[in-house]
Amino acid sequence: MFERLIGSRRTVGKFVVVLGVAAGMLALTSYARDLGKWKQHSEKRPAPEKVTPGDSWSDAPSDAIVLFDGDDLSEWQSGDGSKPKWKVKGDYVEVVPGTGTIKTKKTFGDAQLHVEWATDPEAEGHGQHLSNSGVFFGSYEVQVLDTYKNKTYPDGMAGALYGQYPPLVNACRPTGEWQSFDIVYRRPRFKDGEVVQPATFTVFHNGVLVQDAEELVGPTSHGKRTPYRKHGDLPVKLQDHGHKLRFRNIWIRELDESKR
Ligand code: MG
Repeated sequence: MFERLIGSRRTVGKFVVVLGVAAGMLALTSYARDLGKWKQHSEKRPAPEKVTPGDSWSDAPSDAIVLFDGDDLSEWQSGDGSKPKWKVKGDYVEVVPGTGTIKTKKTFGDAQLHVEWATDPEAEGHGQHLSNSGVFFGSYEVQVLDTYKNKTYPDGMAGALYGQYPPLVNACRPTGEWQSFDIVYRRPRFKDGEVVQPATFTVFHNGVLVQDAEELVGPTSHGKRTPYRKHGDLPVKLQDHGHKLRFRNIWIRELDESKR
């Protein structure tokens, strides 16, 4: 019956080969762990590496790279590679509007990022003009904005994957209070210059799930959607959108593909 539907035995053979290749490509490009590699309960399966957690969920675990702990911005640079002009005060760093977005010297692929931020209690404005900033992996932005009471378009709220996906809920704390993002970024995979697995973001805002393994349709853009362009590892960026904002306690864990 199957043969009659799609043609001769030879055609069926080709069809099966094509299916096999497609399945192989999926296995190559999927983020899913390969369960078929190990027998259930196999003792030969490598044991997970030991990691000492921080004292609280927001403290860096032992395998994290600390990007900012209040000391200095030695892990960061301006867009042109010069020293950032943002001000370190106490345990936080404050955006100096007009001095530019800052980015990490190191670049990252798949990663777990923790960052805390506080909006400016003295800021005036509305919509996108109230304590606007952003946490980026390269050109992919998780929006930072004071949307505690401030109304704006949903895909531009705090915790939005800007211009694409609004947060699942509005988990904003009141203006001026410290808030957190915990972000899991999976970089896009490319083959022959084409994207075969889009970038995904999972985001917790103040511990609340606001993005659930959401697949981006391309880089962050304003007003129109733009297509993916092939890239490798990317720096983490904190945006200078012209507003005074604070950041503190920033750490990142690289998610090693070989251990999946
Ligand atoms: Mg922004």
